[in-house]
Amino acid sequence: MSKNTEPIRSVKGTRDLLPSETALWQRVEEEARRVFAAYNYREIRTPVLEQTVLFARSVGADTDIVMKEMYTFKDRDDESLTLRPEATASVVRAYIEHGLYNEGGIHKLYYMGAMFRRERPQKGRYRQFYQIGAEVLGTDHPAIDAEVPEMLTVFLERLGIDEYALLVNSVGCPKCRREYVKALRQALERVKTTLCADCQRRVNTNPLRVLDCKVEADQSVIEKLPKILDHLCPECRQHFESVTAELKERGIPHQISPRLVRGLDYYTRTTFEITSDVLGAQNALLGGGRYDGLSELIGGPPTPGFGFAIGQDRLVLAVEAVGRLKSHVALAAYIAWMGDSALAPASRLARDLRREGLSVEIGYEPVKLKKSLGTANKLGARFAIIIGEGELSSGRFQVKDMETGHQEEVEPARIPSHLREKLAAAGEPGG
Ligand code: AMP
Repeated sequence: MSKNTEPIRSVKGTRDLLPSETALWQRVEEEARRVFAAYNYREIRTPVLEQTVLFARSVGADTDIVMKEMYTFKDRDDESLTLRPEATASVVRAYIEHGLYNEGGIHKLYYMGAMFRRERPQKGRYRQFYQIGAEVLGTDHPAIDAEVPEMLTVFLERLGIDEYALLVNSVGCPKCRREYVKALRQALERVKTTLCADCQRRVNTNPLRVLDCKVEADQSVIEKLPKILDHLCPECRQHFESVTAELKERGIPHQISPRLVRGLDYYTRTTFEITSDVLGAQNALLGGGRYDGLSELIGGPPTPGFGFAIGQDRLVLAVEAVGRLKSHVALAAYIAWMGDSALAPASRLARDLRREGLSVEIGYEPVKLKKSLGTANKLGARFAIIIGEGELSSGRFQVKDMETGHQEEVEPARIPSHLREKLAAAGEPGG
């Protein structure tokens, strides 16, 4: 049998993020951590693998995610496991499993990580994608439904994204939704035959999902269907009015979007989405809402909750499109040494600078000065530190500013602080 030596490629819908891209991903994550911490969120990390039943019960058995998109498999002991398609259910499961509710008060948790959905891959849509999200557990106060979008606008602002729309809606509580679904189903029965096959099926299984339909020909019919906002019970109406008043009070522009029911069943009351035209066809940057009944669905105590998930892949695309965020990871110095006796002091200096947190590169092959300076240039080093015989005997190394060409002699022990001062004066990282 001949050996197969064909190159092995990554799985469809997954991708490698190369160093030229990860710098921006890290910047986005750093900003998220900073802004979320300012709003008192703390990080939670949950497993990528969960029992399938967790998603069937929370996301909903008749959603696209559960019916068509999950990576579900039988483990060797026959247990059905699923690669998480989203993280809210996992966070709430962890909250219940570890009895965080016993601590009382409000829990604000955030997460970042890979999610998996078997969708048709295209720009901005992948089978392994990344979400940055957060959950507030333990309060149904409408101010939270406005504080969270406020935090998101602060976050987007810090990333330089200012062209987006915040859409909000209320999907009511199980009580008023039942009434609404009845009215919706009746209206749908009358127009059913004019809708796509998926929608015809949804009329029976989950009529709310018709409102998410993207089929162009269905749109004019869907626009005329009854609106959930006209069917809210007095408590849900009051909640929604408080949320929109809070948003106004905080100066957060928003549009009411009565069709925004989102693709997951656990939502109650407020739903919201932020879209951005810089993204093209996949324009949903993030989405979320309230899910006051979710904890009970998965066996926990009644716990109101509110959360969102940002599509990090799309967020990075938007940040790139806007181009205001610098993600350049600068190399502070390249160490150019000449002659065998210079290698040891050069390595020591590299270690000392790196200990100080400065980013430094050194080559270990003996090469001529010109070649070393060429490498320093190629790597974008801000300074080159030159160590040859002359420098060793004088005890002072040459520090060359690669931008201005200016060169000065500095004692090795002073080089770390010297570089820091220069970088700080230029407002560069590491200074
Ligand atoms: P959802 O969990 O469906 O509410 O999605 C929240 C956000 O995740 C969306 O607004 C998208 O930005 C992002 N997202 C969802 N599915 C995908 C996917 N297959 N590929 C990339 N991003 C996604």
